[in-house]
Amino acid sequence: MSRTTIGSELGRLTALQLVEEIGPAASRGGRRSTVIDLAGRVRFVGVAIGATSVSAAVTDGRLRVLAFERTECDVRQGPEPVLELAMEQSRRLLLKLGVDRPMGAGIGMPGPVDFSRGIPVSPPIMPGWDGYPVRDVFGRQFDCPVVLDNDVNVMALGEQHAGAAGTAENFLFVKVGTGIGCGIVARGELYRGMDGCAGDIGHIPVADSGEICACGNTGCLEASFGGDALARDALAAARSGRSPLLGELLARDGTLTAAQVGEAVAAGDATSVQLVRDGGRRMGEVLAGLVSFFNPSLIVLGGGLTLLGHVLLAEIRGAIYRRSLPLATRNLPIMMSDLGPQAGVIGAARLVSEEVYAFPR
Ligand SMILES: [Zn+2]
Repeated sequence: MSRTTIGSELGRLTALQLVEEIGPAASRGGRRSTVIDLAGRVRFVGVAIGATSVSAAVTDGRLRVLAFERTECDVRQGPEPVLELAMEQSRRLLLKLGVDRPMGAGIGMPGPVDFSRGIPVSPPIMPGWDGYPVRDVFGRQFDCPVVLDNDVNVMALGEQHAGAAGTAENFLFVKVGTGIGCGIVARGELYRGMDGCAGDIGHIPVADSGEICACGNTGCLEASFGGDALARDALAAARSGRSPLLGELLARDGTLTAAQVGEAVAAGDATSVQLVRDGGRRMGEVLAGLVSFFNPSLIVLGGGLTLLGHVLLAEIRGAIYRRSLPLATRNLPIMMSDLGPQAGVIGAARLVSEEVYAFPR
């Protein structure tokens, strides 16, 4: 860019209070330059709607989290109550930090999203959300630009911005939660595909499962592993008496989810360990296919099921290394996310910050 273009763009960003002068640069002879930085008062809202929780954060311009809130919430309640909760969380955090108006809000949600229109499209696990104007409802509430994407994509952006994937140009972020999905970053940019559904790996068929999936097909990866599938298999093991420990946990808590399975795995329950191993192996086999196809330099695993810890990670790693060509896995770290529940909100803030700071088209 020419000096004039840069000057006028900085003028525009300054007028919008997105950047500010922070003082003179060190002198190197000649005319003194001025250092320009992201404005100190810039605040973004990041919202991560999951299948079973809603999180919100307020960040500064560098997307450091200044305040964060997470609440259990079933997304199947429909858009009005869930969005109301997300807006209430955001309002509370902004108020706490004394912010009148955020510069933008990013939102991640657990299903396919029409990125350009800011609406969810036929999300299989979210009745009532199809076509709901999520972006517009949020935009009206906070009077700022709003960007919507699916939860896996925003988590991948979060990992890229503040997590394990900071220096990786080509990586996969794999979310294993209630559902299973994959964020694809190629040459430093998120790859969404033609219609925004790239990385929907939960519905790749796995040969050894005939279970019916939420999408209506049989044998999907998500139908054999993932939060819902694991809960179903754990319940069956508890009721049939195959795992007395899962039976006890069911009697104690009235329910079995990944949390109880994790507890049983930690206690050495053989049936639970086997459930996690079987699921991890199927996941790993699908991921091995992706490694052959995409040749990433890193795979980061995130989402609720990472609480299953080392047993899951070891099985996934084993399957990938066994099934991929040595050249593709020679330098391929496979690791758990270290951002945990904040990956989504940081990524959502990153998503909208890119939009807000973009050169006008
Ligand atoms: Zn499916």
